[in-house]
Amino acid sequence: MLNRRTFLKTSAMSLPLVAAIQTLNPATISAEAIADAAISGVAPKLIPLPARLAPVDPSTLPWQQNIRRVGQSNMTEHDPAVMNIEEWADYWHTAGADIVFISVTGILAFYPSKVPFHRHGKFLNGRDFFGECVAAARKRGMRVVARMSPDLNWGDALDAHPAWAMRDENGSVLRNGEDSRLFRTCMFTSYMDDYVPAIMREINSLYDVDCFYTNGWPPIGSLPNCHCAICSKLPPSNTTAYWSAFNDRVLELWHKYDAIAKEKKPESFYFANLGGNVRCGPNLDRLGKIAAWFQADNQGRTSDDPAIWGCSLQGRVCNAMMDGKFAANVSAAYSTGTVRWRNASKNPDEARMWLNETLASGMALYYHFIGSEAGFGEDRRWQKIGSDYFQWAKKHDAHLKPRRSLANIGVVMGQNTQLFYSPPPATHAHDYMRETTQGIYATLLDGRFAFDFVHEDRLDIGRISKYRALLLPNIAILSDHQCQQIRDYVRSGGSIMASFETGLYDENLQRREEFALSDLLGISKAGDVIGTNGNAYYGRIERSHPILDGFSNTNWLPGAQNRVPLKSVPDPVLTVVPGFVQYPPELAYPPASHTDEPAVVLREVASSRLAYFPGDIERTFWLTGHGDLLRILHNTIRWITQDEAVVHVDGEGLLELFAWETTPGYAIHLLNYTNPNAHHGWLSTVNPLGPQTVSMALPSGVKVNAVDLLRSERTTPFRLEGSVLRFTIPRVDDYEIAAVTVG
Ligand SMILES: [Zn+2]
Repeated sequence: MLNRRTFLKTSAMSLPLVAAIQTLNPATISAEAIADAAISGVAPKLIPLPARLAPVDPSTLPWQQNIRRVGQSNMTEHDPAVMNIEEWADYWHTAGADIVFISVTGILAFYPSKVPFHRHGKFLNGRDFFGECVAAARKRGMRVVARMSPDLNWGDALDAHPAWAMRDENGSVLRNGEDSRLFRTCMFTSYMDDYVPAIMREINSLYDVDCFYTNGWPPIGSLPNCHCAICSKLPPSNTTAYWSAFNDRVLELWHKYDAIAKEKKPESFYFANLGGNVRCGPNLDRLGKIAAWFQADNQGRTSDDPAIWGCSLQGRVCNAMMDGKFAANVSAAYSTGTVRWRNASKNPDEARMWLNETLASGMALYYHFIGSEAGFGEDRRWQKIGSDYFQWAKKHDAHLKPRRSLANIGVVMGQNTQLFYSPPPATHAHDYMRETTQGIYATLLDGRFAFDFVHEDRLDIGRISKYRALLLPNIAILSDHQCQQIRDYVRSGGSIMASFETGLYDENLQRREEFALSDLLGISKAGDVIGTNGNAYYGRIERSHPILDGFSNTNWLPGAQNRVPLKSVPDPVLTVVPGFVQYPPELAYPPASHTDEPAVVLREVASSRLAYFPGDIERTFWLTGHGDLLRILHNTIRWITQDEAVVHVDGEGLLELFAWETTPGYAIHLLNYTNPNAHHGWLSTVNPLGPQTVSMALPSGVKVNAVDLLRSERTTPFRLEGSVLRFTIPRVDDYEIAAVTVG
């Protein structure tokens, strides 16, 4: 790991931050002094936080925005035969759940439904299991989500309504991969227009529920590929034209179901299963405008996303789209992963870290186990983990609910690029854009930068002007309008770091002849993408520059796996040494050791700084872990931001940082990922970190009453040096939150 701190420690010319601070007289230190220290290369310039938001009376908010803990025992067909409803309700109530999910379903009715084809579970025996659960929850003051599942149904429904099924190219019915008795229903058919509303209206007529939810739809992380009579008339799946039709249908149904939910009471609403982080199926901008509840079905690490920060990544996506509305992350207490045991508890440290990340990234806690039979009988280990965590969190609700992010860096998500971009053919990438996202994420995390995600459809200046810099990691697909918004942002003083094919495609995936941002970035394309055959290309150091700080004793640096060749620029900092064979070693030398092709292009325009890497540098860092790539990315981010920071956390270890304004003050969340299983497998231990010193510049007139460490439940002393608040968190186990209460 290479970050500011280790860099400083290895530099004989620099003092570690703590030592540098000690040389300053605390009685006279000021924000200006801190700024001076930063210029000397010791610490970033602390930018004063914005004026605090006006207070909001929580009773004026929609009810769901005051929900902090969600409980779900995901009910199986067998549960009516074995589940003790009182025990179930007692567990979630005692744990402190504000709301519980209770299964209505659509695949199997948990009540005596009269809707045709709503098959009663075989252990229901005429009983109103759903109604009994609703009553037990209500008796204990818990709210109720009516959970449905419209994605599958049975053969009798198919016989009567063959049009309801998804079909392949040959017209064959698509079936569930694990139980072929169930067919997959098509979202464009009357199944969604008639069958689902009939169940919702039946529930509204019989019970008092707070809202409705559909599991299994819309799809997460991919788009449907159906060839039924209706879908055959749509554009082919996996095209932007199909995505438009898909999004229109998702929104049409969402509005329709929401209106049905409200037929009984206006404060009710509908929401659906989401997730997939930056690769969410539906357009996040459009959905974010109508969703009252973002259900992040992001239950644990996957083989595609094996890093521990998967839940935090999802939380940043929710924060980008919900604007303070409600989001919850469905955290599995059961064993998630490629090989899964849905009825066995997972490692406690892993389960807790997922809950930590949920809170740190601004979402509400949501704990989930499958089947009350297994959950309350066979394997009960998950219960204490969840109830202890919920009860701890309940004590600190005020500090744990964010009002707004304090981050000063925005990372463009590029949902369009995530879903539709085709990488260079020779890359053999498992998942090119997923690797790109992980590369920039790991870079920012390792550098302890405070950052948000920004959706490409939300680049209006009012939203992004809070960021000192926008990062565009191979955001290949950008419309002319989005490019103009980026130009306007730079004109207003913002900075940019972009890479590889950013802006080379329009929103309809049409490839442009030239970079759409060529004028802004000062770049011009000289050919098509060049990949690697053996040795990847190098960047030859042409002159000194802050982005090369810390490099010595070398004439060149690693480049990336792929690059877009550029025309020459005046006074380059790095030039490309083209790649060559790596085997046989006799031939592993550069035929051309010098070119005028730039390997980075840097510009300064007024207070804006612009950096463009022609290589896929973020993704190449993720593939290799190469410290040179990390250093150059860190240096570049610091250069374009002019080394400005909103919060600085100095100390050992790999940790993820979140900084929020809260109702009582501020909350600085530190997630300790210093663990042998940070990148693979599950956490099985906690490796505590030593002292972390936090510095932040408060808005003028804001006084500090206390700094409380919520996880270790102790206070910590603080110093105010002018407007700069400093305190030390002595130890971080898996997670710590420094809650600053202001007066
Ligand atoms: Zn279809």
